[in-house]
Amino acid sequence: MSISPDQVIRPEILALSGYHVPHAVGMVKLDAMENPYPLPLELREEIARLAADAPLNRYPDAGAVALKATLREALSVPAGMDIMLGNGSDEIIQIIALACAKPGAVLMSVEPAFVMFRMIATFARIDYRGVPLNTDFSLDLDAVLESMARHQPAVIFIAYPNNPTGNLFDTGAISRIIKAAPGLVVVDEAYHAFAGASFMDKLTQYPNLLVMRTLSKLGLAGLRLGILAGRPEWVAQLEKLRLPYNVGIATQLIAEKVLQHSEVLLQQAAAIKRERTAMGERLAALEGTEVFSSDANFILFRVTHQHEAGQVFQQLKKRGILIKNLDGSHPLLRNCLRVTVGTPDENNQFLMALQASLKT
Ligand code: PMP
Repeated sequence: MSISPDQVIRPEILALSGYHVPHAVGMVKLDAMENPYPLPLELREEIARLAADAPLNRYPDAGAVALKATLREALSVPAGMDIMLGNGSDEIIQIIALACAKPGAVLMSVEPAFVMFRMIATFARIDYRGVPLNTDFSLDLDAVLESMARHQPAVIFIAYPNNPTGNLFDTGAISRIIKAAPGLVVVDEAYHAFAGASFMDKLTQYPNLLVMRTLSKLGLAGLRLGILAGRPEWVAQLEKLRLPYNVGIATQLIAEKVLQHSEVLLQQAAAIKRERTAMGERLAALEGTEVFSSDANFILFRVTHQHEAGQVFQQLKKRGILIKNLDGSHPLLRNCLRVTVGTPDENNQFLMALQASLKT
């Protein structure tokens, strides 16, 4: 007798469609908020030497002591706060969700937001509530406060800037949410390098606040390093759920080395911000687009007139350009596409292809 997955696997997992990573070989890849610039050659050579000498036969430092010390400095983590590291910030979201998933507990976010908040809630068996944003993608503070009072969320995730909309929410509104929250509030600052605003310095002010960062958007997506900063009493509990050695030796050594040259990453982020402005202006000048302003390394736009986002997306793909189609993912994202800011050449190729696609 054969045993089928539906006899064994949880029904909500059977019903889930997994996080889709499209095939992108040979394409101009502007779908995943990666930094398009490689590290300078000398730095890569230093990394090669580090890798050659790394004791790969041993487990990595489970506490990542050296890397954490470097991160404290680089991220301006306030004194008295602790750090937890994850295999990307996705893993940290999962650890927090698992830790909070008492029977009947709620994980809250806004919508549209980063899809992993909802997906990980399903993985962790914690109820999910998403509060819709306003049509201009600002926070609907009254709706969030009302939903919080009703559902008493154990944890609220707010991406700041938000993905996929690209905007920073009002700081005062987030502070009101943190003060009124009956549980934790995690401010996810994945796009901090492109925004110039942060809740990191508010950790000392709010006992229920956690701040999350990642090196992914800064130019180290391949390393997989997420960072959580918060009060030691929270971090100590979450640490219990972190799998031993979740951050490998290569990630520890390379991240530390690159952070010692953080001026390289900051220069690249500045170049991306300049390109964001140029690309936003050129996108807005095209006939048939509505462009939303961005504090991140990507731009959300809507195709208007007679065009459908799905068709434009396919046309772009045929022309070798991969971006993200968000149409159908949320009512507020009708006909919306999201493009990552690439190199000037990649952005140019994208804009030319988009212009051609909007004409067909
Ligand atoms: N948070 C937000 C808001 C994101 O957009 C992303 C990546 N798309 C992540 C977290 C996850 O980043 P990583 O796991 O690469 O650190």
